[in-house]
Amino acid sequence: MLTWSSVPPNGTPHTIPLVRVPPHTAITGTILSDQMIGTWVHFYGGRSYPCRGENCPACEDDIGSRWKAYLHILQDEPPRQIILEITEHTARALADQTDGLPSLRGIRVRFSRRHPRRNAPVDVRLSNTHLPADSLPPSLDIPSHLERIWGIKRKRSS
Ligand SMILES: [Zn+2]
Repeated sequence: MLTWSSVPPNGTPHTIPLVRVPPHTAITGTILSDQMIGTWVHFYGGRSYPCRGENCPACEDDIGSRWKAYLHILQDEPPRQIILEITEHTARALADQTDGLPSLRGIRVRFSRRHPRRNAPVDVRLSNTHLPADSLPPSLDIPSHLERIWGIKRKRSS
């Protein structure tokens, strides 16, 4: 069940794109989120479709779901803010490498596909550089932003 707030945060641009790691280019940047946050997502109707829980049409059609995690990142090139979608595999790798840290914010990261294929595993590398949190743009309320991107509305139950 999605129970995220629908109130957008103050002062945040609402054009922050949802991005996956492309096959040929690494994504390098600085994490703005304090932590990653994830939810169950189907691939349904030709697009990512977050699981609605009860009365989810994708579940009713027996479409499998995968857990995806999201991070707000200040990308180096092109310089812009993004929400990066990562798989459970990559999320675990990131969690392993950041174990014990109180926050991910300010950590420099690089995500790249192991092979130049769209669905190849994504490796994550952290750099030792850690930018001071107060020199960075504010972190985004990822759930409410994603719900807007996904166009989540209350569905009529039939
Ligand atoms: Zn579902």
